[in-house]
Formats: sequence, C-alpha cells, structure tokens
Amino acid sequence: MAAIKHRRTALERVEKFLSDTYFTDCNLRGRLFGDRCPPASLSYFQTPRRISYEEAVVQEFRPTQVGDSFGPTWETCWFKVELSIPLAWAGQEVHFVWESDGEGMVWRDAQPVQGLTKEGEKTSYILTRSLKESEPHSLTLYVELACNGLFGAGKGSMIAPPDPDRRVTLSKAELVVFNRDVYELLVDLEILLDMAQLLGEENQRSFQALYTANQMVNVCDVTDLSTLPAAHDLAAAIFSQRNGESQHTIHAVGHCHIDSAWLWPYEETVRKCARSWVTVVHLMEHNPELTFACSQAQQFEWVRSRYPGLYARIQDFVAKGQFIPVGGTWVEMDGNLPSGESMVRQFLQGQRFFQEQFGRICSEFWLPDTFGYSAQLPQLMRGCGIQRFLTQKLSWNLVNSFPHHTFFWEGIDGSQVLTHFPPGDSYGMHGRVEEMLKTVKNNKDKGRVNHSAFLFGFGDGGGGPTQKMLDRMKRMSDTDGLPRVQISTPDQLFSVLEKESSQLCTWVGELFLELHNGTYTTQAQIKKGNRECERILHDVEVLSSLAVAQDRAFQYPASQLQQLWRLLLLNQFHDVLPGSCIQLVVEDALQYYTEIRRAGAQLQEEAVQSLCRDLLQPEVRSTPSTLVLNTLSWERTEVISRPGPDGTETLALVTVPSMGYALVQEPFVPPQPVAVRKQEDGSITMENGVIAVCLDTMGHLTSLQLLDSGRESVPDGCYANQFALFDDVPLYWDAWDVMDYHLETRKPVTTLLKPLEITLAGGLRGSVRFSLQVGKSSTLSQEIILDAACPYLRFLTQVEWKEAHKFLKVEFPVQVRSTNATYEIQFGHLQRPTHWNTSWDWARFEVWAHKWLDLSEHGFGVALLNDCKYGASAHRNVLSLSLLRAPKSPDSTADIGHHQFTYAVMPHQGSFQEAGVIQQAYNLNFPLHMVPASCAQCSPWSAFSVSSPAVVLETVKQAEDRPEALVVRLYEAHGSTVTAWLQTSLPVKEAMLCDLLEHPLAQGHVPLEQRGLRLSFTPFLVLSVLLLWSR
Ligand SMILES: [Zn+2]
Repeated sequence: MAAIKHRRTALERVEKFLSDTYFTDCNLRGRLFGDRCPPASLSYFQTPRRISYEEAVVQEFRPTQVGDSFGPTWETCWFKVELSIPLAWAGQEVHFVWESDGEGMVWRDAQPVQGLTKEGEKTSYILTRSLKESEPHSLTLYVELACNGLFGAGKGSMIAPPDPDRRVTLSKAELVVFNRDVYELLVDLEILLDMAQLLGEENQRSFQALYTANQMVNVCDVTDLSTLPAAHDLAAAIFSQRNGESQHTIHAVGHCHIDSAWLWPYEETVRKCARSWVTVVHLMEHNPELTFACSQAQQFEWVRSRYPGLYARIQDFVAKGQFIPVGGTWVEMDGNLPSGESMVRQFLQGQRFFQEQFGRICSEFWLPDTFGYSAQLPQLMRGCGIQRFLTQKLSWNLVNSFPHHTFFWEGIDGSQVLTHFPPGDSYGMHGRVEEMLKTVKNNKDKGRVNHSAFLFGFGDGGGGPTQKMLDRMKRMSDTDGLPRVQISTPDQLFSVLEKESSQLCTWVGELFLELHNGTYTTQAQIKKGNRECERILHDVEVLSSLAVAQDRAFQYPASQLQQLWRLLLLNQFHDVLPGSCIQLVVEDALQYYTEIRRAGAQLQEEAVQSLCRDLLQPEVRSTPSTLVLNTLSWERTEVISRPGPDGTETLALVTVPSMGYALVQEPFVPPQPVAVRKQEDGSITMENGVIAVCLDTMGHLTSLQLLDSGRESVPDGCYANQFALFDDVPLYWDAWDVMDYHLETRKPVTTLLKPLEITLAGGLRGSVRFSLQVGKSSTLSQEIILDAACPYLRFLTQVEWKEAHKFLKVEFPVQVRSTNATYEIQFGHLQRPTHWNTSWDWARFEVWAHKWLDLSEHGFGVALLNDCKYGASAHRNVLSLSLLRAPKSPDSTADIGHHQFTYAVMPHQGSFQEAGVIQQAYNLNFPLHMVPASCAQCSPWSAFSVSSPAVVLETVKQAEDRPEALVVRLYEAHGSTVTAWLQTSLPVKEAMLCDLLEHPLAQGHVPLEQRGLRLSFTPFLVLSVLLLWSR
C-alpha cells in the first residue's frame, strides 16, 4: 500500500530504526553484532614510561578484568589478551572489540596492527572477514593503552590543564560476530535519512530519499537477515541515479591532523602517529582507492626511527600514490613568528627529507591549522618548489568572513601561489551528507571553479579516516542532488583548479587570522628561546663558514647544526611557539632551547678558535686585548662591556667591519660622551650627541629629542614608556585569545617602588634605574641605557610576574601622524592601518611584528625595537609593545615567574629605511662577540660586505651535502629596486644563483668582478647564491 503523506512520522520512523538508544531490541542497529565471547584471559602491567613492544612483553603481567580502571594520567598499560574464537562461528566475520577512554594500539606478532580510540570511532579490530575452520582459533594480542584520550587529559573542558589523577576505564574487551549486511544497510539508511532531512521540503529529491528509506524499513525483517539484500537494492537504485554535467565535484582526501605537541607531549605524538597511520595502512589494504595526505617530515622521521616495520608499509603505499606526503615542511609551523630564515629551513629540512625518503618533494604547502600566514610565504614557497597552498584556518575569523575559497595569494614581493581553502571549513570531515552540502553551499567561488577539497578523518589528536567514512562516500560518488564525491589527491585537485583558474581573484598581503592574537605573546620564555636560538644558529653558521674559509682543516659542523635546527623547527610547531600548549610541552620546549644554547655556544667557540687562532694564542711578550666579532653584514660602532682584570666590567667603544672582526683599539675617544644629569624635581636627562631624553621619577619618558633638528618625539603632556595593565579574559581559548574588549579595561601602572636613580654617570654609557609594582603582586624593574654614538634608548627590563588573566604592555605615544604603521616581517616589512575605519581595520587591534615596528610621517618617525617580543599594535599615534600575558589554560602556570627582555625606542629623521632602523634592530638582536686576545695589533678583517643599505646579507652557511660550497642569502629590505655589490675576501672561484633548496638556477651564473658580485633586486626579493671555494 502507498505510504501515508506524513513526512515527520516517516522521518522519525527511519530514525528509530537506526537508533542506538531506542528500540534496539527490535531495530536494525540492535542487530549489528551477533554472538559475543569474553577473552580466554586478560592480564596487564603498568609503566610510567613509553616503552617498546620488546621491552613490554617480557614484563610480569597480572590478571585484570573489564570494568577496571587504570592511571594516573600519562602512564601506559600493556594488556595481554588471549583469545579463543568459538568453533561455532565458522563462516562469520569476527571482531575483537576494545573500548576504553584511553588511546590504544593493538599489537599482533610483534607488529602494531590497529589503533583503537573510542573518540576516533575505532573500537573494532577485524580478526577475520569469514572465519575458516583451517584458521587458528586461538591467538594472543597485546594492547598498549595510553592513560590519556585523543585530546589529552583536560579536566572538564578540552583546553583545561591536564588532570594528573585521571583514570581510564576498560569498558569492553570481547570477541563478537559482526553482521556486515546490517552495517551496510545502516550506512544506506543514514545517508537517505540525511538527504531527506537536509535537502529540504522544496527539493523532490528529499522525498525520493525519504520514501525509499521508508520502504526499506518495510522490506526489512530484522529477525531474518536474508531480507536485508532486497532493502539494500532499493538504496542502490536511488544512489545510482546520476547528476547532470554541471554538478560540483568534491575531491575527498583522507587526512589526520596530528598536532606535534599540544594537550600532550612530543613523546605521546610519536605514538599518536603510529596509532593513526597503522590504521590508515590497514584501511588501504582493504580499500585500494583510499588516499591519505600526510604532512610534517618530523612525524615521518619519528615513525621511521621507532616503528621501522610500519614505516616500510607506509613507504609501499607512498610508492603506490595512496599515502601522500604533503606540505614540504619539517612541521606545520606557526605562520607568523618564525624568522624568514627559519621558514626557509622548515622547507629545506622538510623537502630534503621527502626527497631522500620518497624520491620526490611536495608540490603543495599544507598548513590547515595555523594562526595566520605571513605575506612573505608565497615567495618562500615558490623558492622551495611549491606553487600551491592549502589551509582553512581563516574560517575561524571572528569579525570578517574571508571572501574567497580558491584564489591567488600574492606576497609582498609579488610572488603568487594558487590557494585553496576547503569550503567545508574543516580538515576533519566524516563523509556526511551535511558536510558535502556545506562544501557546495559555502563555496565563495561558485561559477569560477567547480572543484573543491574535502579532507576526511579524525584530527588534531590523530585518529584519521574510518571505513564508515569511505563507505558513505562510495554511495555519494554520483548521486543526483548531492555533489559528486571522488576520492582524490591534492595534486588532482590543484591540477584541475589550475585549469579553471582564469576567473580567480587575487588577495594581496598577509592572511591575517582575526582570532588567537594572544599567541604572539603567551609563553614569553618560548618566544625568547625562539628568537635567541635563531640568532645562535645564525651566528654559528656565519662563524663556522668563515672558519672553513680560513682553515681547510676546520670541519663545518653540518650534522650537529642539522640536529639543532630540527629542534628549533620542531618548537615552531603551531601549538608550541604560539604558547597554546600544556606545561609538559613547555618544559620540553625550554629543554630543547637549553640544548641549542649549550651546543651552540660550544660550536661557536670552536669556530672562533679556528677562525682567529693566531690572534688568540698567547705568545711571548703578547699584550692582552679583546677581539670583537660582528656576524652582521654592515660595519658597526658600538659600546661594548668586557670583563676587566678584577672581575669588573669595563666599557669600550669599538668599530667592527661587516661579517668580520677587529681588536679593541685603545685609547678610544667617543665622538661625544653621554651626559647624565639629575634635575631638581628628581627627573633625569641623558644625551649622547644624537638623542636627548628626559625621564621622570617613575621612568616615564617625558621628552625624546633628535639633537640635530631639535625635533621632539613625545607629545606635550604625554608619557612614553608607560606601562599599562589590561584585564585579559577571552571567551574560550584562554592561551590563544585576547579579545577586542580588553582595550576598554586599560589601567596605567602608577605604583612606584623605587624612584629613578642614576646607575652610570655617563661617558661611554649612561644609565638609570627604577622599579614599579604591577598589578597586585608583580614587580617590574628597568635599567634605561644610553650608549655613546647609539641612535636608540634601550630599556633592559626585569619582571617578577604573578598575575592571573592580565595583559601587560608598554606604550609610546609619539608626535607622529600617519594612517599606517610599518611592521617587520620575514625578510621584509608591511604596513597596517593605525585607524579603525572598517571592520577589517579594527579586527587588527593586536598584531605581530618581528624585531621592530615604526610610525613615520614624511621626514620623521619613531621606531620601537625589541629582542624577543612579537605582539604589538599602533593605534592612532600610540605604539604599544605587548609584554606578558597570564592565561590559565591549557597551562595554569603559563608565564608566571621571572622575565627579562629588552626593547628600545629610536626617533629618526627621514624614513625608517634612510635612518637605518632595520640595521639597528638587527644590532640590538645580534650582540657583538668578545674574545680575549693576545695581540695588540691586527688589521680589521671582513669576510663579506654589501654595497647597498637596502640589501641585508642574512645567512651564510655551508651548502647542504656540498662541503666545497657556501650558500649566502640576501634580501632587499627597503621595498626598492636596487643593484648591490656583494664583496667577499674569501677564496671563491665561482658563484651562481640558486633556489631556497640550494639547486642552481638555469642561467644563474654570476661573474666575479673587481667589485664583487653584481646582484639585482626588486622589492623584498630574497636571493640565494652558491659560492664555490677556489681550492
Ligand atoms: Zn593543529
């Protein structure tokens, strides 16, 4: 008889037929599993360490049972499970079902075979698809169970700090008969129900799906499974009704986003990779069409070294084109804070790893989950063999909806990359009808491109695709009313987008994420470690390269440097450098920085000893002196502080050539000594012939003048170097977010602990000191330093920070009017508005910068420099540097404790380019090195110099795997078109341009001329040159 025209009852009838809550005694869901049988025996042992299988299985196992719980957090339990499959189950599909709230891994015959996590919808390990009498019916499995979930062990909320006492319960461990026909029909009906509900009453396809599902329920007799195929045929008939030609095509690619550390430590990620990827490999063995895009060379390296058997299987599937390495980077790094050189190294280490391991580099950059994307990335990608980019994070924008899903992204130098955001706004899809419809509906480039990406698989904490996701999408491959769904690859998607790209729009400049702006500041020690270690590795590479040039016998420490770079790059992961991780991860990260500092100091010492051996070795009648080394590509004249004979520090003024060294020449006469004077009202003035400052007793800068012109920087009645404290309570993502409304809670810091006093009375250096109370119980003390000949005033700051949900900034109101401020980024700079005209403007109330920011009007400006900060803002005429936050999740101890950092203010005539702000910011970050020497006379020596102040020689290193060559990397920093001469005193016989992966460019030969190498730059161009030794 005909179905009654009542949509709601028909819908709910089908729902109940599928329910795992209602009517399971008589519905289809209740028949998914048949007979059950407990394990023959179950025993376990527990360990606080993450040990190998070999070590685990020889331990003493004790009996346990289902219902027992294990812990505390981060422990590991190994279970020995002996199974005996009943003979009566012959011909049936048999699963081992394991349910617990920890993350499990099944081991069989000493190999990992399957990850089991309830949160990742993986609770079954298939023992046999059809039990044969000849198969062994008894077997032993081991289950390695981590006492943490897919998302760590947060108490209550996901991002809460881990609960140290959490226990995981084993709720199921048994053999079951699995009814495959019931499962297939459940998948059919779920899709039909979704189509009926989601396509809506205006769409006839919705009713076709509904009536088919209703009829299927009529046909099924759940007590007689032989009735199921007839129902399945009804579903197959409707799924095979095809679309017209114009239908959108979804490219489904398996994926598993694994944060390299976040709510769990690095060491757990190693196991997460293994659990997730062994499951993928297992799925591929049964689904030859499955593709899986997998990023982060570091994770491959972890699995390569810890799970060689699994890695070999992965290599097979890479060769088959199913397991697809993507991204090209060492980790999915933060997209804002790493330096230009760090970003190059992310690709260099990543692409070289992929080339070495899999015979090919990646052709797309893959960074779906990072908190904003530097406008320098397009050029760096292209320099590393990549012209395609995939992310989706801008869908998290809090204020403005990004206008494109497929577009060309153009960087500050004009480089473009084809960019795609999966329009479903996720990298963790489940293959549901709803997600397919959202992908089509949401796509902002309808009519321009007709293809989009769909990344399916549980993510963040790992997990990856499931069989069910694949089975859903098989049914949707070409079903009228739904987009076409094809299992695809990133290459197939981008290739078709390239063909369709003629109508695409272009987005110029950074991809700014309007959320998570607290991550420029949170976990200040990690930020400081990053900046410092970038500097250390830079200096070690420069000095080691020069040492090689001076002495053939010197061994460039290539493998040690690779290892240290990899530690630094790992810490740049997008939940570590941003500071959005738990305390355990912070401890690991700081430990890695300590390791880089320690090993870096030793490598530097070795390089300097070799480079300057003749000057350092004590000889008869030698005169003690100080050798000063400069690792930057311009000459510097600076005041240095060196240890005197009696342990005291003595000051000296020294001029050191670019990338070279000089001895301190005595006596030195400063061009003009620093004068420091205390006024009657307690304020203090300091001047050095370049700038003159006046500070009040609270350390406020009440005047900052350029002496040449008398131009004042501080507006009348304003205080610069004003500390301000803000309430900092975001809506959810504590460590991540500072909200716009925090600006409404500004409280200037006004409690003086120790008034301003003079600490150095002038000469080569003048300095003053004061301290303040900040908030309820934090203290801040500052030494303000003015050096002879120095164009900036330096603020050496110490903070004892004990706040909760507060944000500390320092503000510099300046007498400059401009609608844009300039911020340093990787290998360049960009401008952002100082006003809040539109929502796009005010959404950038808190932004990031590297070593400097600047506010200039024609002919004059003021720059703020820093040695380890990244958060900043410039609103109207106030420059602010973000100093410290105090979030409580996911690390309740974040930033509590002692901090030391330095910033500086530099007023200047002309533009910041003409005034050398860029070079001064480098100088602040790359202090001169001092070594006790034993000779009184030596000519200053320079290895490299560059003729144009617009061009920065950033990097000097040995070429990868080529001891006979150096690589030097330069960039145009002013935003100008310029020709520059690179001069070197090193024995170089040949020079050629190369890409960022150090492959020579066609026609890249550069002649060695009298003046050096002639190099042509366009704005912000990064150039790398291979220099071959002439021996
Ligand atoms: Zn992530």
